[in-house]
Amino acid sequence: MEKSLLAIIAHPDDETFGCGGTLALHAEKGYSAGVLSLTCSEDERRRELNEAVEVLGLDEPIVFDERTLSPGSGLIRRISDVIVEHRPEIVFTHLPMDYHREHRVAHNLVVEAVEWAAHTTAYEEPWQVRRLLLVEVNTLIPLPHVLVDISDVYERKAEAIRRYATQVAKFD
Ligand SMILES: [Zn+2]
Repeated sequence: MEKSLLAIIAHPDDETFGCGGTLALHAEKGYSAGVLSLTCSEDERRRELNEAVEVLGLDEPIVFDERTLSPGSGLIRRISDVIVEHRPEIVFTHLPMDYHREHRVAHNLVVEAVEWAAHTTAYEEPWQVRRLLLVEVNTLIPLPHVLVDISDVYERKAEAIRRYATQVAKFD
């Protein structure tokens, strides 16, 4: 079975800050490693995402054109459609206690979508994600269960972060 990872995140840049090194590391090893961004508020962010993903060596990103994320929207089915189509073994998404409201909304949508994707009543060929891993973006995990050594791809992650010039400019 092909090994595959998919990061499903709220905004372009969350994939790079959250698990860009892990994605790059596995892409290098021949895994399929992709990104689904649930929102994209500006063309500039889309361009930055494309550049960052290229630096990380990932598959072409999937981008929903939502401007904001709301709980209970019809996005669950759209997300599960992507999961069933791409059949990732590992899905990454946000923490339920992330300080950013849209990250928390994304977490809930993705948890629902992962379950929905596995339903035989919903899909002729459903897909069971093996592991759902939650990643740090702004809020740190006090006691992480999984740590990945990204030393080998650290410079590529740093370069991918620099491609998000609009976001890097907001922080010191
Ligand atoms: Zn975000």
